[in-house]
Amino acid sequence: MNLTGKLLIGGHAITGDRAAIHAINPATNETLAPAYLGGNESHVEQACALAWAAFDSYRETTLEARARFLETIADEIEALGDELIDRTVAESGLPRARIQGERGRTCGQLRTFARTVRAGEWLDVRVDSALPERQPLPRSDLRQRHIPVGPVAVFGASNFPLAFSVAGGDTASAFAAGCPVVVKAHSAHPGTSELVGLAITRAVTKCELPAGVFSLLFGSGREVGISLVNDPRIKAVGFTGSRSGGIALCQAAQARPEPIPVYAEMSSINPVFLFPAALQARADAIAQGYIASLTMGSGQFCTNPGLVIAKQGPDLNRFISAAAEVVQRANAQTMLTPGIFAAYQAGVTDMAAHAQTVARGVEATGPNQCQAHLFTTTAREFLANPALQAENFGSASIIVQCADDAEIRQVAEHLEGQLTATLHLDDADLPAARSLLPTLERKAGRLLVNGWPTGVEVCDAMVHGGPFPATSDTRTTSVGTAAIFRFLRPVCYQDFPDSLLPTALQHGNPVGLRRLVDGQREV
Ligand code: NAP
Repeated sequence: MNLTGKLLIGGHAITGDRAAIHAINPATNETLAPAYLGGNESHVEQACALAWAAFDSYRETTLEARARFLETIADEIEALGDELIDRTVAESGLPRARIQGERGRTCGQLRTFARTVRAGEWLDVRVDSALPERQPLPRSDLRQRHIPVGPVAVFGASNFPLAFSVAGGDTASAFAAGCPVVVKAHSAHPGTSELVGLAITRAVTKCELPAGVFSLLFGSGREVGISLVNDPRIKAVGFTGSRSGGIALCQAAQARPEPIPVYAEMSSINPVFLFPAALQARADAIAQGYIASLTMGSGQFCTNPGLVIAKQGPDLNRFISAAAEVVQRANAQTMLTPGIFAAYQAGVTDMAAHAQTVARGVEATGPNQCQAHLFTTTAREFLANPALQAENFGSASIIVQCADDAEIRQVAEHLEGQLTATLHLDDADLPAARSLLPTLERKAGRLLVNGWPTGVEVCDAMVHGGPFPATSDTRTTSVGTAAIFRFLRPVCYQDFPDSLLPTALQHGNPVGLRRLVDGQREV
C-alpha cells in the first residue's frame, strides 16, 4: 500500500496545506517519505461537522453492531501485516518484537472493549419504580442509563505508536462508549497513523456506519490540536504526552464558552519504596528487577521507575552497588524522536548538577540513543529541590537515601501525584508498609507489591491514572475497560411511557441487562 500523506476526513483523503510533517527514523536520522501537509482550521471544521452529524445514529447502534465495529478494526489492523510493523519500527526506533507485541495489545484492547460493549454493564441501568401510593408524596417512575458525551478529540502518543495512538486505548474506549472520534496524529509517526487510519476507515465502511464516525488529522498541535479542542462539537479530549502539552489542552478546554473535560495523562516518576527486611533478604534481586524495568524500551514508559526511596545503611549500599553494576552493562537504546532524546540529555545534565551520579550505562553508538543514568541523593536534598522530582522521560532514576522512617514519610508526603507507587516488602515490613499506605493511596492510581510498574495490563480492574500531574482528572483511568466511563454521562428518564424509553430501560428488559431495580440487582 502506498502511503499518501493525506488527511482522512470522514472517509475522504484530503491534502493539507500547512507546513509539511516528515517522519524521521530516529535510528538513522533519515527523513521518511511521504510528506504530510498539515491540516488547517477548515479541515478541523469539516471533521467535527461530520463527527457531529454521525453522533446521533452512531450512539444508538446496537451493542452487537458497535462490538462488531471494534472487532473489525482489530481485524483490519492485523490485515495490514508486516507493512504496519516495518513502518512503525522505522518511525519509532522501537524493536520489532516490541512493535509486534504492541500490535497484539492494540487489537486485544479493541476486542476487550467489544466484550465490554456487549455485556452492557457500562450502561449502568438503574430503575426506581413509581410509588403512586407513597405518603406524603408519590414517587415518579425514574430510570437511568449512560449515554456517550459526543465527539471526542484524541491526541496520539509518541511512546505507544499503536496502543495509544490512532486506534489506541482512547479511541477504543470512545468508540465503545458511542462517541465519534477525531484523531490529531502524533507528528513522530504519521505513516503508522495513516495505515491505522485507513484500517479504521475500512471498518467504518464494512460496518455500514456513518463516515463521520472517524477522521484523522495531521498538523501542528498548536494549530490543528488547539482548533480541535476549541471546536464546539468536540465534547471531550484524550491525551498522553508532556505536562506542558496536557496543561495547554486543559487550559484551552476550560477557556471555551462551553468548557469540556480533558483526560490528559502527563507526568509520573513512579516511586518505589524498599523496606528493610526485603532489602536485607534480596537487595541483589531487587536491584536486577529495578534496572530491567528502568531500561526497558529506553525508559520511555509513563510507568518507568524514576525514583527509589529507602532507609540508608549497608543493605541499601548493597542494593546501590548491584544496581550500578547492571546499569553499567546496559546498552544505549534508540529513543523515539530527536526531540525526546534532546529533552532526556538536558534532564540528566540537570540532575547531575543536583544529585550524585552513581552509574552510567554503555555509551551511545548511534544517533538519539539513551544512555542509562542512575543518581542518588539524601532526603533533605530531595525535599529542598523540586527539580529532582521532575519526570525525565528515559532510563534515568534517582535513589533517595532517608535517615529514618520519619524522613521516608516526609518524602512520600512531598511527592506529586503519580500513576503508580511500588512497595518491596517481606512479612516483617508489613506494619511499616501499612502505615505508609494512606499516604500512597492519596498519591497514586495503582499500588504494587514486590513487582515493577512497567507493563500495564489491559483488564477490568486496571487503573492507569492518578492525581495531577499524573493525569488531569484523578477520578479516571486511561487503560482498561473502566476507561469507557470518561466518555459517558448519566441521563434520567422520569415517567416515560414504555414505548418512548430507550430499549435498555424498557419494562421487560429486552436487552437482557443486569439492571439495578428498586435497589436489587437483576440476575
Ligand atoms: P508532547 O510534546 O506533549 O506532544 C504530544 C501531542 O500534543 C503532539 O500531538 C503535540 O503536537 C501536541 N502538543 C504538544 N504541546 C502542545 C500545545 N502546547 N498545544 C497543543 N498541542 C500540543 O509529547 P511528546 O512529543 O510525545 O514528547 C515530549 C515529552 O513528553 C517527552 O520528552 C516526555 O517528557 C513527555 N512524554 C511523557 C509521556 C508519559 O506517558 N508520561 C509520554 C510521552 C511523552 P505536535 O505534533 O505539534 O508536536
